[in-house]
Amino acid sequence: MGAPTMYDDSNIFARILRGEIPCKKVHEDEHTLAFDDIAPRAPVHTLVIPKGKYVSATDFADKASDAEIGAFMRAVRKVAALKGVDASGYRLIANTGVDGGQEVPHFHVHVLGGRSVGPMTSAK
Ligand code: 5GP
Repeated sequence: MGAPTMYDDSNIFARILRGEIPCKKVHEDEHTLAFDDIAPRAPVHTLVIPKGKYVSATDFADKASDAEIGAFMRAVRKVAALKGVDASGYRLIANTGVDGGQEVPHFHVHVLGGRSVGPMTSAK
């Protein structure tokens, strides 16, 4: 079984985008929304999501326009600046599909920083 490809409109980030659930907004532009993770794993833990309905990194790369993809990466960089970690450094994580441990089926990148965030992953 791979990553789901059908977008589920009831996923939690779709609900945040519709304003049905509050979020602590960090940045918003035409194509992108960024907000703090509800269960932060580091002093800075912000999620960046496209406003379009993309299930995963794979789906986003396959189907999003160049404008959406460009805006997304610029938003990630803007979040790093707004959170004050662009000089100290940060980690971007895009959990994708089953083996990637993706829980919410709306593409998102985690921006983690504010301290050394440790080894990249376990070897096993
Ligand atoms: P994933 O495992 O899919 O890469 O990460 C999903 C992330 O979404 C988790 O870090 C989790 O804490 C976060 N999350 C889940 N529900 C909510 C919510 O309602 N609000 C916010 N701000 N973050 C959430």
